[in-house]
Amino acid sequence: MLTLSGRVIKRGSSAETSGPRIYSLSTQASLPAALRGKKAFLIKEAGLVPTGFKHYFHLEGVNATITEPEKTTRLGKEFSYFGNDDVVSLTDDGRIRSIFRADSDHNSILLTEQCNNYCLMCSQPPKRVDDSWLLREAFDAIRLIPRETKVLGFTGGEPTVYGEDFIKLLDHTKNWLPNTSLHVLSNGRSFADQSFAHSYSKVEHPDLMVGIPIYSADPAVHDYVVQAQGAFDETVRGVLNLKRFGQRVEIRVVLHKQTYKGLPELATFIARNLLFVDQVALMGLEHTGFARANIDSLWIDPIEYKDQLSEAVRILSTYGIQTAVYNHPLCLVNSDVYPAYVKSISDWKNEYAIECAPCTKKNECGGFFSSGIQNGYSQSIKPFI
Ligand code: SF4
Repeated sequence: MLTLSGRVIKRGSSAETSGPRIYSLSTQASLPAALRGKKAFLIKEAGLVPTGFKHYFHLEGVNATITEPEKTTRLGKEFSYFGNDDVVSLTDDGRIRSIFRADSDHNSILLTEQCNNYCLMCSQPPKRVDDSWLLREAFDAIRLIPRETKVLGFTGGEPTVYGEDFIKLLDHTKNWLPNTSLHVLSNGRSFADQSFAHSYSKVEHPDLMVGIPIYSADPAVHDYVVQAQGAFDETVRGVLNLKRFGQRVEIRVVLHKQTYKGLPELATFIARNLLFVDQVALMGLEHTGFARANIDSLWIDPIEYKDQLSEAVRILSTYGIQTAVYNHPLCLVNSDVYPAYVKSISDWKNEYAIECAPCTKKNECGGFFSSGIQNGYSQSIKPFI
């Protein structure tokens, strides 16, 4: 698992009074002088360091001749995965955070930790704090992300807590990254407000999808899972409003002890009432955040719900709904699920078990969340031989 944030060894003194900063990294020593002032040079190789860059990040253990020490921040080896065109933030108190990795298709920008749901398995537990600096940081980061980026996500918390400022961010992203496919994770409740759904649609982004969770066809179960009364009703109205305005919507269902039994009924509910959604994603549980705290009431070995998963995929596919099964080890699903199976776990938090070593289908398998492996994932892992 990659270390996405942490402390630097020593922060460059010239940056110490300037507040949090966002940098686009370069490993190109021959970058034209006119461009150097916009980039931070990442010292990954021994030798003489080029001059004229806005800042320098010097990786521990690299024997380099530092030319501008006051502008040089020293990083531990855990950040040796940083590369050309990555975007990072550096704070006054010496914390560094990866915002964007140019060699990955799994980049999501966290916009806030605030949320009006309080889901039992939330991987990013909500906080009641003003963290609007994350939104401002996102505006800056978008300007630094390479234009050829294929896909980018916005996540939270609940990104729509910013209202019209969130819409402005979508506009801004459309302008700076017009060819980038954009995916937003939202609980969908804000879109129950028809005028907000309309504003969202007026961005007219050419490739935008919003992923919205519905956990059960039973409103009481959904509201229990998200710990918010009336959430089911608002979420479904949100989905209807978005589709009324021609927006692309993905329904996301996280599978665990509280949701797996009702999965076939939920598939039927979606097929009958929300047939026009663009995709349904059936997702394995990530053992992090609240999921870890509530693990006893949530955890179930995927092998135990494989038949409900098969049935849900069958129902949704029969109705012609695009269906994807995310975050599941391949050997823990029935073979009739394979057409919907996606090797999906983000590259920075994906691992395989010791039992996987001889498996002939490792390349097709998404493996496990690192957090799941640490907690003892399943007794039923069975390598394909
Ligand atoms: S044994 Fe193979 S299919 Fe099962 S989790 Fe490991 S790599 Fe995936």
